[in-house]
Amino acid sequence: MIFEVTATDGAARAGVLHTAHGDVPTPVFMPVGTKASVKSLHPDEVRAAGASILLGNTYHLHFRPGEDLVAELGGLHAFMGWDGPILTDSGGFQVFSLRDTLLAVDDEGVTFRSVYDGGEARFTPELVAAIQAQLGSDVAMCLDVCPPAGVPRVELERAVRLTTAWGTRQREAPRAPGQLVFGITQGGSDRGLRARSVEEITALDFDGYALGGLSVGEPRPEMIDAVEWSAPMLPADRPRYFMGIGDPDGILDVIARGVDMFDCVLPTRLGRTGTALTSHGRLNLRNARFARDPRPLDERCGCPACTRFSRAYIRHLVNQRELLALRLLSLHNLRFLLDVTLEARSAIEHGRLADFILEMRHRMADDPEA
Ligand SMILES: [Zn+2]
Repeated sequence: MIFEVTATDGAARAGVLHTAHGDVPTPVFMPVGTKASVKSLHPDEVRAAGASILLGNTYHLHFRPGEDLVAELGGLHAFMGWDGPILTDSGGFQVFSLRDTLLAVDDEGVTFRSVYDGGEARFTPELVAAIQAQLGSDVAMCLDVCPPAGVPRVELERAVRLTTAWGTRQREAPRAPGQLVFGITQGGSDRGLRARSVEEITALDFDGYALGGLSVGEPRPEMIDAVEWSAPMLPADRPRYFMGIGDPDGILDVIARGVDMFDCVLPTRLGRTGTALTSHGRLNLRNARFARDPRPLDERCGCPACTRFSRAYIRHLVNQRELLALRLLSLHNLRFLLDVTLEARSAIEHGRLADFILEMRHRMADDPEA
């Protein structure tokens, strides 16, 4: 069995995803290790923060250092020193979101310029399957066509058609031993096209399913609405993955609507801007009012930053661009999002997710800097 739902609360689910490198309790936030590293953090620190599965980026690893080298060094787990589960994306999102580098999309695949050296490159379903097989991830994602928000319906329709055609081919491609493969549905916020995509992709019987083509620039309420009606279209006995959401509000929104997995670079990206996520909202450590603040970033947090250092000290590190600032803020932000997800899971098990979300939102709406 790949996935078990162990509790439900409204549309929300708690469950367990079984992978070749261990079990993943869901709902789960997946920290992103873009280039085989969660920026600035040791894998043991990522695990200690509560992470059970990491995400690696096929696009970046393909160009640097290359899947052949990673395979030669024993696969992605051995290469990056992480023996837990890893999900790799297909690279499609990078190809389609870097619009300036996109050269052509045809029935066979997509041609683009590499962000590394500008050289012409091409992804096909067969190639991204082969790259992910070489990397040896536990979950491989299908190559999809992911248009930005606001494109004409005809372009959305083409994305749906090609994503199904490519998924059909990738379904048959060789994979690493024990590797799960997830299909991706497209269709944006168009209910008819999304339903068509879900019907076609689920007919291919993948191990899990992603809602792709959302969180691509559409207004947040439109996205939440689309998750609400599209998640229940997916099979109840397979994991549901929402690609690219990771702010606390967004996490709660998608969990409540039946999503099991999500990922985002937010914890480390915010760290680089001197921002902490807390149970009372965001703190910008550059703000002068923290200069003499002896309190931890978040009194409710047990992370290595909060158990030892003051806001005043971390603000000093941020202002002086000390590397430790990035590390402490990343550790804290990661722990915060993993804790929110864990608490949501527990709330689902106790049938009180709606209350938990109300409490969280109430607290986060406080003035964090007071
Ligand atoms: Zn903390």
